Amino acid sequence: MQKTRGSVAKVRIQIDLTKKRPRHVWLGFSEKDPTRGKWQIIEYEEVPPYCLYCKQQGHFVGTCPMKTRYEEFKERKEMEASNKGQDKQQST
Ligand SMILES: [Zn+2]
Repeated sequence: MQKTRGSVAKVRIQIDLTKKRPRHVWLGFSEKDPTRGKWQIIEYEEVPPYCLYCKQQGHFVGTCPMKTRYEEFKERKEMEASNKGQDKQQST
Protein backbone atom coordinates (compact mmCIF):
# COMPACT_ATOMS: atom_id res chain seq x y z
CA MET A 1 0.00 0.00 0.00
CA GLN A 2 2.75 2.48 0.84
CA LYS A 3 4.51 1.83 -2.45
CA THR A 4 7.85 2.82 -0.95
CA ARG A 5 9.37 -0.50 -1.80
CA GLY A 6 8.74 -2.58 -4.84
CA SER A 7 8.39 -5.99 -3.40
CA VAL A 8 6.84 -9.38 -3.77
CA ALA A 9 4.52 -11.06 -1.33
CA LYS A 10 4.97 -14.79 -1.14
CA VAL A 11 2.29 -16.93 0.35
CA ARG A 12 1.94 -20.63 0.79
CA ILE A 13 -1.43 -21.82 -0.35
CA GLN A 14 -3.31 -25.04 -0.82
CA ILE A 15 -4.64 -25.56 -4.31
CA ASP A 16 -6.76 -28.12 -6.08
CA LEU A 17 -4.54 -29.38 -8.89
CA THR A 18 -7.54 -30.66 -10.84
CA LYS A 19 -9.01 -27.17 -11.10
CA LYS A 20 -8.01 -24.21 -13.19
CA ARG A 21 -5.82 -21.80 -11.26
CA PRO A 22 -6.84 -18.15 -11.28
CA ARG A 23 -4.30 -15.88 -12.95
CA HIS A 24 -5.15 -12.94 -10.70
CA VAL A 25 -6.93 -12.00 -7.49
CA TRP A 26 -8.73 -8.86 -6.44
CA LEU A 27 -6.94 -7.06 -3.64
CA GLY A 28 -9.52 -5.00 -1.81
CA PHE A 29 -8.03 -2.01 0.01
CA SER A 30 -11.20 -0.97 1.79
CA GLU A 31 -13.93 -3.02 3.36
CA LYS A 32 -16.42 -0.15 3.04
CA ASP A 33 -15.69 0.49 -0.62
CA PRO A 34 -15.26 -2.75 -2.53
CA THR A 35 -14.30 -0.86 -5.69
CA ARG A 36 -11.10 0.31 -4.04
CA GLY A 37 -8.40 -2.15 -4.81
CA LYS A 38 -6.52 -3.63 -7.68
CA TRP A 39 -6.08 -6.81 -9.62
CA GLN A 40 -2.96 -8.65 -8.63
CA ILE A 41 -1.38 -11.07 -11.06
CA ILE A 42 -0.45 -14.36 -9.42
CA GLU A 43 2.67 -16.24 -10.26
CA TYR A 44 2.75 -19.83 -9.14
CA GLU A 45 6.00 -21.35 -8.02
CA GLU A 46 6.75 -25.01 -7.66
CA VAL A 47 3.38 -26.31 -8.71
CA PRO A 48 3.75 -30.08 -8.53
CA PRO A 49 3.08 -31.86 -11.80
CA TYR A 50 -0.35 -33.42 -11.84
CA CYS A 51 -1.76 -35.73 -14.47
CA LEU A 52 -5.37 -35.05 -15.40
CA TYR A 53 -5.49 -38.36 -17.23
CA CYS A 54 -4.72 -40.86 -14.46
CA LYS A 55 -5.23 -38.38 -11.61
CA GLN A 56 -1.81 -38.90 -10.14
CA GLN A 57 0.91 -36.54 -9.04
CA GLY A 58 4.43 -36.71 -10.39
CA HIS A 59 3.94 -36.23 -14.13
CA PHE A 60 1.90 -34.30 -16.67
CA VAL A 61 -0.54 -35.72 -19.19
CA GLY A 62 2.09 -35.44 -21.93
CA THR A 63 4.32 -37.98 -20.22
CA CYS A 64 1.61 -40.15 -18.69
CA PRO A 65 2.61 -43.83 -18.81
CA MET A 66 -1.01 -44.94 -18.58
CA LYS A 67 -2.07 -42.72 -21.45
CA THR A 68 0.88 -43.89 -23.57
CA ARG A 69 -0.04 -47.50 -22.89
CA TYR A 70 -3.67 -46.87 -23.74
CA GLU A 71 -2.79 -45.08 -26.97
CA GLU A 72 -0.48 -47.90 -28.03
CA PHE A 73 -3.28 -50.34 -27.32
CA LYS A 74 -5.76 -48.23 -29.28
CA GLU A 75 -3.33 -47.92 -32.22
CA ARG A 76 -2.82 -51.67 -32.30
CA LYS A 77 -6.59 -52.23 -32.26
CA GLU A 78 -7.02 -49.75 -35.10
CA MET A 79 -4.28 -51.44 -37.10
CA GLU A 80 -5.88 -54.82 -36.53
CA ALA A 81 -9.21 -53.40 -37.61
CA SER A 82 -7.78 -51.89 -40.79
CA ASN A 83 -5.91 -55.13 -41.55
CA LYS A 84 -9.16 -57.02 -41.28
CA GLY A 85 -10.73 -54.52 -43.66
CA GLN A 86 -7.92 -55.12 -46.15
CA ASP A 87 -8.35 -58.88 -45.83
CA LYS A 88 -11.99 -58.52 -46.75
CA GLN A 89 -11.14 -56.41 -49.78
CA GLN A 90 -8.55 -58.93 -50.94
CA SER A 91 -10.90 -61.90 -50.54
CA THR A 92 -13.67 -60.31 -52.58
ZN1 LIG B 1 -0.85 -39.96 -15.76
